[in-house]
Amino acid sequence: MTNFFKKVKIVATLGPASESGKMILKLAKSGVDVFRINLSHATDEEIKSRLINIKRASKTLGRPLAVLADLAGIKIRIGKIAPDSKIKNGESVRISSRQIMGSGKEFSVNFPKILENIPLGADIYLGDGALKLKVRRKIKDGAIAEVIKGGNLISGMGFSANTINLANFTLSAKDKNDISKMAEAGIDAIAVSFVMGKKDIEAVKKLLPAKNRPLVIAKIETDSSVKNAEEIIKTADGVMIARGDLGLSVPLAELPHIQKSLIALSLKYAKPVITATQMLESMTNNLMPTRAEVTDVANAILDGTDAVMLSGETATGKYPEEVVKMMSEIIEEADQKVSFREFSEENEIADAVSDSVTHLAEKVGAKLILVFTKSGFTARKIARRRPHQPIIAISPERKTIGKLNFTWGVYPLFGKVHKNFYQIVEEAKKIARDNPVLKLKKGESFVISAGIPFGKSGATNLALVEKV
Ligand code: PGA
Ligand code: MN
Repeated sequence: MTNFFKKVKIVATLGPASESGKMILKLAKSGVDVFRINLSHATDEEIKSRLINIKRASKTLGRPLAVLADLAGIKIRIGKIAPDSKIKNGESVRISSRQIMGSGKEFSVNFPKILENIPLGADIYLGDGALKLKVRRKIKDGAIAEVIKGGNLISGMGFSANTINLANFTLSAKDKNDISKMAEAGIDAIAVSFVMGKKDIEAVKKLLPAKNRPLVIAKIETDSSVKNAEEIIKTADGVMIARGDLGLSVPLAELPHIQKSLIALSLKYAKPVITATQMLESMTNNLMPTRAEVTDVANAILDGTDAVMLSGETATGKYPEEVVKMMSEIIEEADQKVSFREFSEENEIADAVSDSVTHLAEKVGAKLILVFTKSGFTARKIARRRPHQPIIAISPERKTIGKLNFTWGVYPLFGKVHKNFYQIVEEAKKIARDNPVLKLKKGESFVISAGIPFGKSGATNLALVEKV
């Protein structure tokens, strides 16, 4: 069983290698906090059984496990290709706006409209960048491209172009249907693929129930979303740095720097941020990761990421349990090196109080920070300062518990919250002393934070030191 107080959250993608009840329990025991269901692949039956298995594992372990449903979005793909087709370096291929059976000479795409505004000289990547083309000529029904890096052409390969936005964001009928289905199933968060601007996040929010709405997480994976990052992050409830598609939409060498600035922006707005894709990719087939991968994970943590994500590694890989254990080990080591963060925009009461909470905890040698929070706001404001103490967030809202599972250093607990100040202090003492995981000893101190009177979101105004 992993350290209960591991601070960075692990998101693991479910798939054939990991969806059984037994494996989900093992992965949760090894450190997974959030299970991701990729709606591009899962069938209704699979979704149903995964949700049941996650709920069971959570019950068995007595700790919350969150579910992140990832919308398919509009992924541009090439059409059907005849078997054994190859494209060769230096040759020309025609990208056709008509639906044809493709070959080594020509192929179609599922959204032919994008060919209308594709600029001359644009770099096109097929698959995960395995093949590369360059647009040389526009023609009536498509474009002619030169093959820069040839290879096998396979039906349905992903199609991405560097530095241009190929399509406007639209919610497909499938996405709309998935949004209402998943909201009904009570999942904790929805990730929106191929976001362009803040209005795409607003469109998804509109389709969700206002009460107990799941977190809406913006996947930053187009160059337009990088340009509009600040307004997107302000509008969304969380962020995913979707490095897979992002790495095909911006010059690859810029990726590490974009990652750092997206994390900094997420911290600025106290929104949870997930760093995703290829984090321990080589463990899909090997028992040991590369040194570069281990370093990448640790560096994302030092940058300030709330969560790290596993994709194929746990969905289809050979070693789902081992990869989660490795992730937890890297996290536990890096956790000790994470330093305190200060934020300059201290003009709000909530910010000033959260700042005091972390400094108080440090100065009195507190063992815990106990936060009473309705929406999770106070807990997130404290967490972004990266205090050394575990942040125990007590909420009377079941939905808040799951949502806080995405935030660094926060351990959400369901609990009754009183409106009255003295009752809150008594309740905090009881939790600190009696909770089987916390079990503070007589004389040990902790800091309490809340907004009094309790119940109004964003009204954090209390920092209090107490002893058991
Ligand atoms: P995907 O998103 O796995 O849904 O493509 C993550 C990414 O693009 O990195
Ligand atoms: Mn993607």
